[in-house]
Amino acid sequence: MFKVCKFGGSSLADAAQVRKVCDIILADSARRIVVVSAPGKRHSNDIKVTDLLICCAAKALAGEDYQEVLQAIVVRYAEIAAELALPTTLVDEIAADLQRRVTGSRAHAGMFQDSMKAAGEDNSARLVAAAFKARGVVATYVDPKEAGMRLTNEFGNAQLLSDSYPLLESYLKKVDGIAVFPGFFGYTLAGEVATFPRGGSDITGAILAAAVKADVYENFTDVDSVYPVDPRIVPEVKKGIAVMTFREMRELAYAGFGVFHDEAVLPAVRAGIPINIRNTNHPEAPGTMLVVKRDYDCCAVVGIASDDGFVHLYIDKYLLNREVGLGRRLLQILESEKVSWEHMPTGIDNISVIIRGDAFDKDREERVLKRIHEELKPDNVLVERDHAIIMVVGEGMQYAVGMSARATRALADAGVNIEMLNQGASEISVMFGVRSADRIKAVRALYYAFFNS
Ligand code: ASP
Repeated sequence: MFKVCKFGGSSLADAAQVRKVCDIILADSARRIVVVSAPGKRHSNDIKVTDLLICCAAKALAGEDYQEVLQAIVVRYAEIAAELALPTTLVDEIAADLQRRVTGSRAHAGMFQDSMKAAGEDNSARLVAAAFKARGVVATYVDPKEAGMRLTNEFGNAQLLSDSYPLLESYLKKVDGIAVFPGFFGYTLAGEVATFPRGGSDITGAILAAAVKADVYENFTDVDSVYPVDPRIVPEVKKGIAVMTFREMRELAYAGFGVFHDEAVLPAVRAGIPINIRNTNHPEAPGTMLVVKRDYDCCAVVGIASDDGFVHLYIDKYLLNREVGLGRRLLQILESEKVSWEHMPTGIDNISVIIRGDAFDKDREERVLKRIHEELKPDNVLVERDHAIIMVVGEGMQYAVGMSARATRALADAGVNIEMLNQGASEISVMFGVRSADRIKAVRALYYAFFNS
């Protein structure tokens, strides 16, 4: 058994959290690679170390005084180190590292910012390795450059170069004891630091899990499991999702499901490595397993997600069904305005295109409508804002009878008008379009229809 474990910022926010991380790793000898984030928030008004680093970099680039912010960052590490009785030389090294980065070349802003941002994870990994050593455990800080974490030079949005996989695998196999790997960054072929997008330590963990072909990728955060519905909408939800498939996760994430960004864990998904989402503050909870295939007997539906701010663009034209090329011309108009469309349910004489509102501002709307009138000669065009999408997701639905009926009955009983229903394009979800004002009511009704028992 070989496990890669990733700990998010809240799991490393202070000394007590770092102790928990070490306890979790030591409780299972299969946990051999630890990926760490930078220290996160200790309480809701706190500032993440990464945000302090971004602020420090911005001040330095603007020629402003950054010493106070820099000092605040050193203090975050110093407090943790002091409480864990780690050698004081460690804090001196961290302070020197930050000083070296901030006084480095600022000729390329993105490069400079990434070098600063990466300091959060890099020093966090040095600190965690020292915390293991202080407990007499053999642990090694891994330098992503030496290990072969090679990235493109898209600073702040870097991607993995695929030849990293064999390099990482052979390097990590030789590491002494527990490998402590900093998340969030790697190096370009020219040797510069480059970071993934924000939250990118999840990506590092998924890459390492794929590289070493781990049996499981454990992603430790601060929730017991993924809930079948947003607890802000249904605060009384108690039971989390025990198992769901990657496809289900993707559909739920599309419609605003939190926990983590599905694209971040793509390397592990592609390699078919199960992902276990767990809670650092409650490690005995089994968490949620994400797998390639699950047993559908327990539950046809795994979750209900919803997202707001969609626009419906309706086009009516008599005999539209016989007109060749109208759909293509409509999409071309949207494409030339760089508008990405989300869904496109069609009728006999009508098409409606569903777009995210932030991608379709009023100016774009005006230009698109003008061209639709001129080029497509419709009978009627209508734009409606303030729509929401609700997804009922579950791979088991394709084998169960009466799922849509149950959903539509629940919405009818709650007095919600269904403006759009899309089933069939995906075998694993049913999508409802409703007015934004009805979203909460609709999600609650669907939750009780599928999870009440
Ligand atoms: N520390 C980085 C961030 O706050 C990366 C991470 O935590 O995953 O975005």
